[in-house]
Amino acid sequence: MHRPVSPLLHDYKPSAANKPKKSKALQWFVVGLGIPLAGLALVSALTSTTPPAAPPEEPVITATDGSDYDVETPVEPVYAATPLVLADAINPPPYQTLNLTIGRGDTLDKLFRQHDLDLGHLSEISRLDEARKRFRKLKPGDQFEITHDRGDLVSMYSNLNLTSALKIERAESGFKAEIVERAIEKRKRLAYGTIESSLFESAADAGLSDRVIMNIAGIFAWDVDFVLDIRSGDDYYVQYEEIWQDGEYVMDGEIIAAEFNNNGRTYHAIRFVDDEGRSDYFTPDGHSVRKAFLRAPVDFTRISSNFNPRRRHPILNSIRAHRGVDYAAPRGTPIKAAGDGKVIFRGVKGGYGKTIILQHGGNITTLYAHMSRYAGARIGGRVRQGQTIGYVGATGLATANHLHYEYRLNGVHRNPRTVRLPQADPIDQRYRQRFLATVEPILQELEKFKNTQLASVAYSNK
Ligand SMILES: [Zn+2]
Repeated sequence: MHRPVSPLLHDYKPSAANKPKKSKALQWFVVGLGIPLAGLALVSALTSTTPPAAPPEEPVITATDGSDYDVETPVEPVYAATPLVLADAINPPPYQTLNLTIGRGDTLDKLFRQHDLDLGHLSEISRLDEARKRFRKLKPGDQFEITHDRGDLVSMYSNLNLTSALKIERAESGFKAEIVERAIEKRKRLAYGTIESSLFESAADAGLSDRVIMNIAGIFAWDVDFVLDIRSGDDYYVQYEEIWQDGEYVMDGEIIAAEFNNNGRTYHAIRFVDDEGRSDYFTPDGHSVRKAFLRAPVDFTRISSNFNPRRRHPILNSIRAHRGVDYAAPRGTPIKAAGDGKVIFRGVKGGYGKTIILQHGGNITTLYAHMSRYAGARIGGRVRQGQTIGYVGATGLATANHLHYEYRLNGVHRNPRTVRLPQADPIDQRYRQRFLATVEPILQELEKFKNTQLASVAYSNK
């Protein structure tokens, strides 16, 4: 087995082939040779400040390859020992850096003690709002980058999420905390998949993540039943975002556009984000890919009672029309608003128990009964399609946990399972031109990609 040679064994030369990548590597190289601590402080001071011009006879390390190699870091022990340099090196002070990782059962207090950091400073910053909020949510794996001056805290930095971080710095009086933005980069990706047996299998073959494939299924779910309608030979093209940060891949983001070819029919969906930050998918001519209503407003285990104008009521034991659908589901399963609308009733409604009624456009109302509890939505408040409005229960006249769901058009009960559902609203008129302008280049890009894929398929089939 090839074993890498220790850098300490190298005769150090600033040659192109043997260049240390970062000045840090050089520091450790010097430490490794046993330079006393005072010397180390001096060296690190030198690396963080611009040194005076080196005497002409001294070899100066320069980078000519355009790498991020720190060219202004001549770490020559002889050079560093010059008193003139020492005086300059003291200003700015040699701060030390430390990366603290929270372990199970750790507190910042404990870690500050372990590393001889000033506990007074910790309690001082703990009084700052932003810091206090962050410290309250401490969990194993959280990281804090600390800069200190022999134990005196100079700065502290910790990521909050993908897009923001907490930054604490020593100010003229005490410390100040602020939330700073973390830059993310979105990269565009194109992928192609062809289905042999299932969408998920094809996605794995195409190298797509579960997130991307769930999103594809979600976008086209209104037109394609991914269990029943899929045919061998169906295929799809997708353009999606990848989220990168500091030059590293983080996760897959949203789908920008997709084409799905199902059993001879082609569906397109293109994402549009409006000025309020709400995103939705539309066909190239601006129609919504969604229906205005979910077919079933709950993830049910089975349908326990169908829409039936003449049914014997299980509790009252008399013929009574069942003017809705009963979806059996475990207690606590979220109940979703079937469509965008307004809450016009919320309360106990006789045998219906805890009930919500929504008013939608087109003179449609939907009713949700037997809830165990409500979720947020108040009377008069607006809800979005898919928003959780309550949870499955058995309040009122019910023998088991289920959602009783009704759909009325112009006051007349319709079977929610078979009623023809209206299409969701097309793109808002004020965004229409902007949307149409983005569609063409996106579709062209998708088409170009499609052709290269088809060409490579044809080639590999030869
Ligand atoms: Zn019912």
